[in-house]
Amino acid sequence: MAKVAINLSTGSIQQEEIIVGIDLGTTNSLVAYIHPDGRRPVAINDQGRGTIVPSVVHFPGGGEAPIVGTDAKDYLLTDPQNTIYSVKRLLGKSYQDLGQHAQDLGYKVIDDNSEGLVKIRVGEKFYSPIELSAEILKELRIRAEHALKTPVNKAVITVPAYFNDSQRQATRDAGRLAGLEVLRIVNEPTAAALAYGIGLSPDEEKTVAVYDLGGGTFDVSILRIQQGIFEVLSTNGDTYLGGDDLDRTIYEYWTGQYQLATVLFQNPAAQQQLRLLAEEAKRHLSTHESFAADFAGTTLPLTKATFNELIQPLVERTIASCRQALADAKLTPADLNAVLLVGGSTRVPLVYESVSAFFQQPANNSLNPDEVVALGAAIQADILGGNRRDVLLLDVTPLTLGIETLGGLMDPIIPRNSKIPTKAGRQYTTSVDGQVNLKISVYQGERDLVQENRKLAEFDLRGIPAMPAGLPKVDVNFILNADGILKVEAIELRSNTRQAVEIKPQYGLTDAQVEQMLLDSLTHAREDVAARMVIEARTVAEQMLYQVERFVAKNGQHLTEAEISQTTTGVGELKAALTTQDKDTILKAVDELEELTRPFAERVMNISINQAMAGKKIE
Ligand code: ADP
Ligand code: MG
Repeated sequence: MAKVAINLSTGSIQQEEIIVGIDLGTTNSLVAYIHPDGRRPVAINDQGRGTIVPSVVHFPGGGEAPIVGTDAKDYLLTDPQNTIYSVKRLLGKSYQDLGQHAQDLGYKVIDDNSEGLVKIRVGEKFYSPIELSAEILKELRIRAEHALKTPVNKAVITVPAYFNDSQRQATRDAGRLAGLEVLRIVNEPTAAALAYGIGLSPDEEKTVAVYDLGGGTFDVSILRIQQGIFEVLSTNGDTYLGGDDLDRTIYEYWTGQYQLATVLFQNPAAQQQLRLLAEEAKRHLSTHESFAADFAGTTLPLTKATFNELIQPLVERTIASCRQALADAKLTPADLNAVLLVGGSTRVPLVYESVSAFFQQPANNSLNPDEVVALGAAIQADILGGNRRDVLLLDVTPLTLGIETLGGLMDPIIPRNSKIPTKAGRQYTTSVDGQVNLKISVYQGERDLVQENRKLAEFDLRGIPAMPAGLPKVDVNFILNADGILKVEAIELRSNTRQAVEIKPQYGLTDAQVEQMLLDSLTHAREDVAARMVIEARTVAEQMLYQVERFVAKNGQHLTEAEISQTTTGVGELKAALTTQDKDTILKAVDELEELTRPFAERVMNISINQAMAGKKIE
């Protein structure tokens, strides 16, 4: 295994090259870097537009380039269908993961009813959350390049501590698509701790709580920091609780108290105006005792005392999460060396007071809560750039380790630059009815297609009980020990059938080869991501065809002739679309076949036809 310093100094890294830190938030995103004078982290404020870039993407139509940030936010009201917000909620998720929340968004999330990752339809085009996040990252990259007057190609990007592998991988892919080499994905609470200077010296041992209340999400993490290693002891929270909910309590209070129903009734512009006024009141009350403003001829007042009463139940919910997180970490408030506040909503005084009271110590809010995560990401970037010799360098794995999935795609299990020892795993399933063997092919490398990567091993998991496609659950675990030996094990959970191999991934691999593999992955990043998206669309389409044909064969007697002939036409169109290699054409045909078959599929089976399917599929 290579040390970080060697690994990063291979070939592509030039000295003094800027590596930025990015907070890719649900509501707001920021980019920061280490200022050469004083070597302090600074959030980038390009052209005086402020440091905060709202995470909103608007598609003007007519082939024009998307608009990102504050300008895009204005279109949320006038053109909601073509204006995408909160895309972070969709990253790495399937439609099933989203459940009822899919309907709450103002834009169209595609219901292809499979376990495949969600797509968003904007006009005739389909975007994955990865592509949309890439638009936000691209905007941040351009702002950084503009402000710093130098190309920016490398970044550290933060994610919530609770993000799973697939959400982390999606974030990496978004970075690549935005033209950024993602040196590391860092947990947001870890970044916050780094920004507060915690964990920078190797002999330091600390336990901290990080309380993050943003625009639409809340989470709290308990971290233990030891010898420069940040361990998440527990996390808790609510992905549907944040500043927007505080605004809503004010909105509802005003509409109830001041008979605004008639003004607001079927008047989206007035509703939005009131919503913005509620947010303004909330922000004002963070530093003042009372607020008043005129709305459609009525004076709307709000005192801090009333506001506190309104939001008390919401704040109490966050405290309940803190209680649970502490209990899960088996700690008491006295065990914590610090409590750090992150996220714009922690500016609300009641939040500060409640958190401090619960943890029995003054919470630390000396850094700007909007910027703290991005600042910490910049520090992490600086460490990875080898600019902080005082910080411990750990053994890392220089290349990604993963397995082959349907269509010859590389599914990364242990991403490159992971500290070792480490272990990671994922669940897979079969793609064909009655399949009893599953071939596990282990690869190493950064490319999206396994054929471009290095094959390490292959084995068959045999003796899976014959079941319909999608039912078997196969856990594949990668365990990489401190000596660099990788153990790959596959277990079918119902029958407990298992099989394992041991490999030494670095065996016979020179530093020059590692370097070449990294360089290749950068040169081919765009085409690789594009190829992956076509293959994923094809896989969704092929699974859909398999399901529909099977469904019609089994249930033909329950269908009308018109339904059967419509389905045959839809199937034909999807097959034709499959010959195009164009992901939008394919996904559109999938969407149409889905719309067509859903009514009678639901009628006949009372469940969606793909519902039994869970997990990714291997050949
Ligand atoms: P995220 O991490 O989810 O992208 P942020 O940390 O940027 O979100 O938080 C955005 C939220 O912070 C919004 O709901 C905004 O209204 C709120 N906020 C920003 N400034 C203040 C303030 N001064 N007082 C109260 N809330 C604020
Ligand atoms: Mg945030």
